[in-house]
Amino acid sequence: MVSLNEVWGMCICVNCHWVDRCEAYHAVERQHGVSHLNEKPDWKPVAPQIHISVLDEQNGNGTEVEWDVRACKSFLQDEGRWMKLCPGSEVPK
Ligand code: SF4
Repeated sequence: MVSLNEVWGMCICVNCHWVDRCEAYHAVERQHGVSHLNEKPDWKPVAPQIHISVLDEQNGNGTEVEWDVRACKSFLQDEGRWMKLCPGSEVPK
């Protein structure tokens, strides 16, 4: 099954200057059960819009929930910011 992220794109935060300081991205990391870039984020974004998708798991054994920020008034483009912070790691989808 093709995930909605593959159809609609990924969380905009991975290309945002604030990603490692942002409280909203910290919440997205928590929902995905992944390690935090920063345990104590100190940046409060303005009006982040979090898109929540319920997807069938690829093994057909249930559903998974995806959280992605799709719009945010604090977005400050820094292409590849997440990759620069985590070189060699797979970019979260
Ligand atoms: S786009 Fe908004 S929510 Fe995402 S990291 Fe940037 S400031 Fe935070």
